[in-house]
Amino acid sequence: MKLRRLRSQPGWYEIMSHCPICGHKGWCAIDHEQSTVHCMRVPSDDYFDSHMGRQYRHYLDPDKVPKTKIEVLLVDSVDKKPDYHLNRVYRALIQELSLSSFHADHLRNTRKLTDDVIGVRQYRTMPGPDRYKIAKSVIHRLNDQSDLLGVPGFFVKEGRYGPYWTMAGASGIMFPFRSITNEITGWQIRVDDPPLELSIEGVIKGEILQELERNELGKRRALCKVVIQDKTLEVILTEKDKKLCYSKSNQFIFSIELKQGQRYWWWSSGSKNNGASIGGPIPYHFALPSPCLPYWKVGETPETLIDCSEVWVTEGPLKADKGADAMLKPFIGLPGAGAYSLILEPLKQLGCKHVVLAFDADVVTTPEVERTLGLCAEFFAENTDMSLSLAMWDISQGKGIDDLTDNGLIPQVSLMLE
Ligand SMILES: [Zn+2]
Repeated sequence: MKLRRLRSQPGWYEIMSHCPICGHKGWCAIDHEQSTVHCMRVPSDDYFDSHMGRQYRHYLDPDKVPKTKIEVLLVDSVDKKPDYHLNRVYRALIQELSLSSFHADHLRNTRKLTDDVIGVRQYRTMPGPDRYKIAKSVIHRLNDQSDLLGVPGFFVKEGRYGPYWTMAGASGIMFPFRSITNEITGWQIRVDDPPLELSIEGVIKGEILQELERNELGKRRALCKVVIQDKTLEVILTEKDKKLCYSKSNQFIFSIELKQGQRYWWWSSGSKNNGASIGGPIPYHFALPSPCLPYWKVGETPETLIDCSEVWVTEGPLKADKGADAMLKPFIGLPGAGAYSLILEPLKQLGCKHVVLAFDADVVTTPEVERTLGLCAEFFAENTDMSLSLAMWDISQGKGIDDLTDNGLIPQVSLMLE
């Protein structure tokens, strides 16, 4: 049985292999003596409610205690360190990482950034192999090994010659998140190869068994198991090649498509030994126009460099960076459109009087986001005296604010809240 120590419940472990009660992986817990299970899925008369949900107590029959060897995974994540500490470590990391030519080409050609901007923004590449060497060099720049403790992204791995520090995450472009005092408080990675997913509709079930080599056109492929009306097949699917099945009378039966999943990920190590989660609180990214950056001292808010009475808000770090350069305004990149409460205190500290929301054009027309915008306006009305505007444009002019300004256009700004 594979277990993960629960920091919130001393003496208790999350069951990472199959729970002896419900048979599922994860979420259920077992005590130190392996005699009691708190199952989350199979009810019993003896239960209690916790922040995770209702936990049902089950007592294991000592004769039926799992015969498999018990293995405690040393997953002992620690609390995230304060921002000033994260900044110190992440700035040491910046010195040790570079930007690959593959990633520089993407930023130049697809994102239309100049080499000067790419340099001053400090984008980096999360490399594939030999990450422990980088962690080691970062430690050399700091005081000691314990400086990496509680810094999201770093964690301790057990090796043949003992434990060592290394870095989590898939390879890709790393975008730094800056606070209003220019502290680097986190990173998002735009991963090169997002995890593959199956998109399925109709009477079909499926799972990805294994990713295969790309085909001759460079498309990703995977070996998948599919179940169609009790028949199990193994098939090779190619990315974006949607399989559709209709009956003879032209009725839809099923469709299946291999797709790329999420592209942007937090650089975090909360599920790893001595790692830390990016949350509590999750970072926002404050972006200044790139010409201001060399003059922006760490620990200082930038009111002397730029007027902060109006701040623009968008989603994601790159859009904020590009928006700031195109509009010559301070921008905040939220980790998600609904995360506006994160930026209340920073905006107050900047002396902001007017907030302009600049979300993607396709996003603004969906009902959920309309609701989010309503809640956001309500939140600002209740908690601040700032006015709130919405930046709008037609989707034919570009999806995000960066696409719009790349096309040489600027948005129309209309007041939502005085
Ligand atoms: Zn269970």
